[in-house]
Amino acid sequence: MSFLKRCPSCGKHFEVRHTAETLESSQTGTITKTRATGARYSGYGVMDPYTNVTVETTEVPVEHDTYEEAYTCKHCGYSWTEKKKVTRRLGSGTATTE
Ligand SMILES: [Zn+2]
Repeated sequence: MSFLKRCPSCGKHFEVRHTAETLESSQTGTITKTRATGARYSGYGVMDPYTNVTVETTEVPVEHDTYEEAYTCKHCGYSWTEKKKVTRRLGSGTATTE
Protein backbone atom coordinates (compact mmCIF):
# COMPACT_ATOMS: atom_id res chain seq x y z
CA MET A 1 0.00 0.00 0.00
CA SER A 2 1.41 3.34 -1.05
CA PHE A 3 0.90 6.57 0.79
CA LEU A 4 0.83 10.12 -0.49
CA LYS A 5 3.67 10.84 1.82
CA ARG A 6 6.94 12.40 0.96
CA CYS A 7 10.28 10.95 1.93
CA PRO A 8 12.11 13.49 4.14
CA SER A 9 15.42 12.23 2.81
CA CYS A 10 15.10 12.06 -0.99
CA GLY A 11 11.78 13.88 -1.41
CA LYS A 12 10.15 11.14 -3.48
CA HIS A 13 6.43 10.65 -3.37
CA PHE A 14 4.76 7.25 -3.82
CA GLU A 15 7.84 5.37 -2.62
CA VAL A 16 6.92 5.45 1.02
CA ARG A 17 5.89 2.25 2.74
CA HIS A 18 4.03 2.14 6.02
CA THR A 19 5.87 -0.49 8.04
CA ALA A 20 4.49 -0.40 11.56
CA GLU A 21 1.95 1.16 13.86
CA THR A 22 2.59 1.05 17.57
CA LEU A 23 0.18 2.19 20.23
CA GLU A 24 2.37 4.31 22.42
CA SER A 25 -0.05 5.62 24.99
CA SER A 26 -3.73 5.53 25.71
CA GLN A 27 -5.45 7.91 28.08
CA THR A 28 -9.07 8.12 29.01
CA GLY A 29 -10.68 11.43 29.79
CA THR A 30 -13.79 13.45 29.14
CA ILE A 31 -14.84 16.25 26.87
CA THR A 32 -17.68 18.59 27.75
CA LYS A 33 -20.66 19.05 25.45
CA THR A 34 -23.12 21.88 26.09
CA ARG A 35 -26.73 22.05 25.07
CA ALA A 36 -29.30 24.77 25.76
CA THR A 37 -32.70 23.58 26.84
CA GLY A 38 -35.84 25.24 28.08
CA ALA A 39 -36.21 27.94 25.42
CA ARG A 40 -39.92 28.23 24.77
CA TYR A 41 -42.21 30.49 22.84
CA SER A 42 -45.32 31.97 24.32
CA GLY A 43 -48.63 31.42 22.58
CA TYR A 44 -48.25 34.59 20.50
CA GLY A 45 -45.14 33.52 18.65
CA VAL A 46 -43.00 35.77 20.77
CA MET A 47 -40.07 34.54 22.78
CA ASP A 48 -41.17 34.34 26.36
CA PRO A 49 -38.69 36.57 28.23
CA TYR A 50 -39.44 34.87 31.53
CA THR A 51 -38.44 31.42 30.40
CA ASN A 52 -35.24 30.30 31.92
CA VAL A 53 -32.87 28.76 29.47
CA THR A 54 -30.91 25.98 31.04
CA VAL A 55 -27.54 25.11 29.68
CA GLU A 56 -26.98 21.43 30.05
CA THR A 57 -23.45 20.14 30.11
CA THR A 58 -22.71 16.53 29.41
CA GLU A 59 -19.42 14.84 30.07
CA VAL A 60 -18.58 12.54 27.19
CA PRO A 61 -16.01 9.84 27.86
CA VAL A 62 -13.19 9.77 25.34
CA GLU A 63 -9.93 7.98 24.83
CA HIS A 64 -6.81 9.75 23.59
CA ASP A 65 -4.52 7.37 21.77
CA THR A 66 -1.03 8.20 20.59
CA TYR A 67 0.35 6.01 17.83
CA GLU A 68 3.82 5.87 16.47
CA GLU A 69 3.77 5.22 12.74
CA ALA A 70 6.87 3.86 11.07
CA TYR A 71 7.63 4.50 7.40
CA THR A 72 10.35 3.37 5.08
CA CYS A 73 11.25 4.87 1.72
CA LYS A 74 11.55 2.24 -0.97
CA HIS A 75 13.66 4.56 -3.07
CA CYS A 76 16.52 5.42 -0.70
CA GLY A 77 15.85 3.14 2.25
CA TYR A 78 15.38 5.99 4.75
CA SER A 79 13.07 5.14 7.62
CA TRP A 80 11.42 7.41 10.13
CA THR A 81 8.55 7.57 12.57
CA GLU A 82 5.68 9.97 13.01
CA LYS A 83 3.29 10.48 15.88
CA LYS A 84 -0.42 10.22 15.28
CA LYS A 85 -3.04 11.27 17.80
CA VAL A 86 -6.51 9.82 17.72
CA THR A 87 -9.41 10.84 19.94
CA ARG A 88 -12.10 8.21 20.21
CA ARG A 89 -15.48 8.63 21.79
CA LEU A 90 -15.96 5.65 24.03
CA GLY A 91 -19.01 3.61 23.23
CA SER A 92 -19.79 5.22 19.87
CA GLY A 93 -16.97 3.71 17.84
CA THR A 94 -16.24 6.88 15.88
CA ALA A 95 -12.73 8.24 15.70
CA THR A 96 -11.34 11.63 14.80
CA THR A 97 -7.79 12.17 13.70
CA GLU A 98 -6.09 15.37 14.71
ZN1 LIG B 1 13.71 8.36 0.07
